[in-house]
Amino acid sequence: MIIQIRQGTEQARLESLLAWLRSQGIDPHVSVGSHVTLIGCVGDVSHIDIDLVQALDVVESVQRIQEPYKAANRKFHPDDSVIDCAGHPIGGGNFQVIAGPCSVESEEQVVGIAKAVKAAGATLLRGGAFKPLTSPYSFQGLGKAGLDMLLVAKKETGLPIVTELMSQEQLELFDDVDVIQIGARNMQNFDLLKEVGRSTRKPILLKRGLSSTLQELLMSAEYIMASGNPNVILCERGIRTFETATRNTIDLTVVPVLHRLSHLPVVIDPSHATGVARLVHPLAVAATAIGADGLIIEVHNDPPHAKCDGAQSQTPEMFAETMKVVQSIRPFACR
Ligand code: PEP
Ligand code: MN
Repeated sequence: MIIQIRQGTEQARLESLLAWLRSQGIDPHVSVGSHVTLIGCVGDVSHIDIDLVQALDVVESVQRIQEPYKAANRKFHPDDSVIDCAGHPIGGGNFQVIAGPCSVESEEQVVGIAKAVKAAGATLLRGGAFKPLTSPYSFQGLGKAGLDMLLVAKKETGLPIVTELMSQEQLELFDDVDVIQIGARNMQNFDLLKEVGRSTRKPILLKRGLSSTLQELLMSAEYIMASGNPNVILCERGIRTFETATRNTIDLTVVPVLHRLSHLPVVIDPSHATGVARLVHPLAVAATAIGADGLIIEVHNDPPHAKCDGAQSQTPEMFAETMKVVQSIRPFACR
């Protein structure tokens, strides 16, 4: 962190700022120029409130040199993290496809879809049992019964399961879940992030919030990692913009940008990013080509009658077509 001191600042006031920085465990190095005085802060500044420093009378400007996230930062962990999802590694050249319905609706539905997506090449099964829907009048998910149906599908197909956790109280039901999804609406539920950091080592699929920056996404990953769980997978599912042609707006450059900033794997969700089933295929293909570490795709046997997100759900046939192209781009990576 570099602090530029306001011109004309009295020495005594500068000294008192230096004393405060030292009291925060920082070693301040002052460089006095003819017009500008700078303080270079050496040491761990992650706990310093930059806005507070910026607001001081004697401060002209403050610049952070280092990102505020450490555990998720590639600078401190140059190699890609490879996250083991129940025998299916993701990251570091390993590519996985997670597919399944938005919500679990019945045992027959989820088992049927699981078999179809497995046959097409998916390596993990998704399905929501606890649903974070915008309207309280919409289907809220089958809860515990839905989890049990996912477990049946896992038993029948061998596909590990990925499902969303909405609150700490549900965690005791998640013993047999393989990957815990934290949804976009909970990306900044810090108590929930701390809990999945503290109490489990299961992989956490962390979705980007509807209007969150990449730095905020990485800070949320940092919450989980700093609490003890290093197994975080970042998921881009589009953000809210002024554009209305698609449900959300996705910028696929997040993949190389996140890969540069962080060692964590990056998964793209073309279903929530577009909200339109026919757009899922081209986006999935592009995400694969740009270097994503995986995809998460909604598939439904009967989209017009789906209890949620039918408009963006691929049929098993559409998914199989998408997988053919995805596998032609990443022929050996999907295991
Ligand atoms: C989902 O995966 O069904 C979901 C609700 O996703 P998001 O949190 O990205 O909206
Ligand atoms: Mn959905």
